[in-house]
Amino acid sequence: MSQLTELYQEVILDHYRNPRNAKPIEKETHSAEGHNPLCGDDVEVHLLIEDGVVADVSVRGVGCAISTASSSLMSEAIRGKSLDEVEQMFERFHAMVTSPIDAPAPIDGLGKLEVLAGVRNYPVRIKCATLPWHALKSAIAGSSEPVTTEAGE
Ligand code: ZN
Repeated sequence: MSQLTELYQEVILDHYRNPRNAKPIEKETHSAEGHNPLCGDDVEVHLLIEDGVVADVSVRGVGCAISTASSSLMSEAIRGKSLDEVEQMFERFHAMVTSPIDAPAPIDGLGKLEVLAGVRNYPVRIKCATLPWHALKSAIAGSSEPVTTEAGE
């Protein structure tokens, strides 16, 4: 295992053991749930969106290390960001974890989220990593239907 991979593993385990922004928030404007039946991951995303900015966020759920770490890392990444920035982050993150191993998408401006790049080597884990992002997108879109990863990536 390379040193970089070890570092990534450490960050993922840290976020799995101590998920950030998992406490309920007092005021919220948007929320959504997501389910990944392939792995049994469940996630709830709650947002306070003010003036087009994610002013507060809570992401909590029950799931594997990857879905929990991805939820926690996402919550840190989107706090204080505009909805446009969040949308771009979604696209980049999705491209990072779903691009082919021999033609990986560039990892630009993803900061700490890039610790999850290795997920693309484990196809069964990709939906664990993207689950909170799909729930986030659904929350922002104002959809009341729970999202399921069965519908796509
Ligand atoms: Zn999972």
